[in-house]
Amino acid sequence: MLTKKLPTLQSFQVLVSRYASQLAHQQYDVIVVGGGHAGTEAAAAAARVGAETLLVSQKIQTIGALSCNPSLGGIGKGQLVKEIDALDGLCGRAGDWAGIHFSILNRRKGPAVWGPRAQLDRQYYREFIQSELLSTPRLTVLEGSVEELLVTEPKPDEPGQHRVTGIRLANGSQLVSASSVVLTTGTFLAGSLFVGQTTVPGGRVGDAPSSAGLSHTLKERLRLRMGRLRTGTPPRIVKESVDLSLAVLHPPDTNPTPFSFLNKQTRCKPEEQLPCHLTYTTPGVEKVVKESLHLNCHIHQDTKGPRYAHMQSHTHAYCPSIESRVLRFPGRQHQVWLEPEGLTSELLYPQGLSMTMPPEMQLSLIREIPPLQRAEIHTPGYGVQYDFVCPTQLSPALQVKSTQGLFLAGQINGTTGYEEAAAQGLWAGVNAARRALSMPPVTLSRTESYIGVLIDDLVCRGVTEPYRMFTSRAEFRTALRPDNADLRLSLKGFEEVGCVSSERYQEALRVKNSLADALAALQDLTLSRHNWRKMLPDVHISDAKNSVLNGMAVLQYNQVSYEMLASCFPEVLCPFVEFSQRLKIEAVYKPHCDLQKKEMDRIQKEESMFLPQDIDYFSLPVSLSQEVREILDRFRPSTLGAATRLQGMTPAAIVHLLKYVKQTK
Ligand code: FAD
Repeated sequence: MLTKKLPTLQSFQVLVSRYASQLAHQQYDVIVVGGGHAGTEAAAAAARVGAETLLVSQKIQTIGALSCNPSLGGIGKGQLVKEIDALDGLCGRAGDWAGIHFSILNRRKGPAVWGPRAQLDRQYYREFIQSELLSTPRLTVLEGSVEELLVTEPKPDEPGQHRVTGIRLANGSQLVSASSVVLTTGTFLAGSLFVGQTTVPGGRVGDAPSSAGLSHTLKERLRLRMGRLRTGTPPRIVKESVDLSLAVLHPPDTNPTPFSFLNKQTRCKPEEQLPCHLTYTTPGVEKVVKESLHLNCHIHQDTKGPRYAHMQSHTHAYCPSIESRVLRFPGRQHQVWLEPEGLTSELLYPQGLSMTMPPEMQLSLIREIPPLQRAEIHTPGYGVQYDFVCPTQLSPALQVKSTQGLFLAGQINGTTGYEEAAAQGLWAGVNAARRALSMPPVTLSRTESYIGVLIDDLVCRGVTEPYRMFTSRAEFRTALRPDNADLRLSLKGFEEVGCVSSERYQEALRVKNSLADALAALQDLTLSRHNWRKMLPDVHISDAKNSVLNGMAVLQYNQVSYEMLASCFPEVLCPFVEFSQRLKIEAVYKPHCDLQKKEMDRIQKEESMFLPQDIDYFSLPVSLSQEVREILDRFRPSTLGAATRLQGMTPAAIVHLLKYVKQTK
């Protein structure tokens, strides 16, 4: 895979336009709107499940574009990338192809919360995603802007239930029908861009916003509750003009770890990878921020006033800009990472310097930072504000509860980040395809994946600010590790979901069986403590009542590696040495995971207790307070587990609900 030849943009364009001429009046199973991180995963996943899929995006050349930071993964986010890969998604393999600086973050902590991360070459990443889409059977790509969703009005026997039937394209009013539509419009829905005191309509620099018709359908016809969010990006800096000798060098890991379970190595060899550099802000930065405040409408404009009767009025910012950071924490030094944008790119990305002040002030600001004293700006930083749909209106399959066949994924659901978008996209694509092919929806639980945590948080709790993944959000994080995502998800992905190829399934099975054999071999290696001490003289094997220890217990000692045990028992353990790191991690976490198992079983049991979506909570003949009834009616949790996680639910109310579910089963 890592030696494949990617198609040029021209060949992609030729193919796309060839498909476009065949589109008229065609019926698709699934249409995906938007070719960002959510849309590309959604389209590929829907096609893998077996649906005839159409991906429509405004511009071909921006399909798979990294709008902001040239990096993938990190703490919490790296776990999402591994899970997307385990479900045969694209971004992990794209990261291995495009990565130019790999490192595992958080190494000081346990492997459960390590964060696999890579700095990316923007062009390589985009080209890889486009190439994958081209070679995906059952997937057609079309350049175009979707103007409107086609939806039916609710029938008398299904009050409040719309149904999506397709899309209308802006150019030539062409209609395309489908059983399911996945909307992944990112920062483009009613998007506006901000620099200094200038505001222009836009979804991203150089790109128009999503058409007004789409927002109108969501707000006025489907009456969805919506809000407004904002984010920003730093100026891009000319590399040549920066004195990197004044910053602290951060080399990549000497042994890069690929994201994908299918890859043994990354495309970029260790010696070809590029370093990052760390520097800090100075008091001069704070001074420029304060002097330019009156010229900075993005920072001023915390509220824009209600634009629609049912819309929240506040705009919330993620990725705090340098302006908001210095205003919030005056007198502090703030980190600035100088990151490469590509192998041959002339630009640097200054992570931590997202800003929206006028371009000339941006230049003054960056020049207050020692390595950037003579720096030149290639493209100024800017901010973007956009509409999102309150995600509590979605089911765990990411389908809008009040509109059959309409699925939403990515930034449109109030999240931020490529990984969060890709994870939702994959799951929405899977469920959109399953619906179109008359298969039941599938869900992922909090106990089995970060993707399950992400979706559960969104649909049960909603968002008050742009949602991003942290390891602390996952209560079972010691079990949901980056190293075991394949065992958690690839088997289920093939056997139950239908989005995993048989090649990946066979590989996951091989790994599962080998690990099981290796763990059994370790358990069977039972020796007295005395004999272990003789065998491993440098290891302090403690005294304890039980005089014998098995290999698994010995592997839990800090100083013991699997390789050490394998050299003592080569015949039994050497066959599994390719899994030495995974086995060490398994051994370290085993006692903790065994303890957690009970709690995970309880949650999984509750997750399998479905609450009918048409319950009238106000007339339910059980003892519930009016407040609890209102919460249940508003959020309509799909399972008992989801109900327990709603804010305002009481333990007593859960007991009553449980009784009701059991009676009606
Ligand atoms: P996007 O990647 O935005 O993709 C949306 C796609 O939909 C685009 O291809 C667009 O052309 C297409 N589209 C939209 N409307 C239509 C239509 N009507 N018809 C057809 N196609 C349509 N994330 C971070 O994690 N950290 C950051 O610091 C950060 N800063 C950002 C700063 C800026 C200025 C921007 C623009 C984004 C930033 N992001 C940041 C967000 C990051 O880019 C997104 O989280 C991620 O790209 C979301 O993926 P998505 O697929 O939801 O949407």
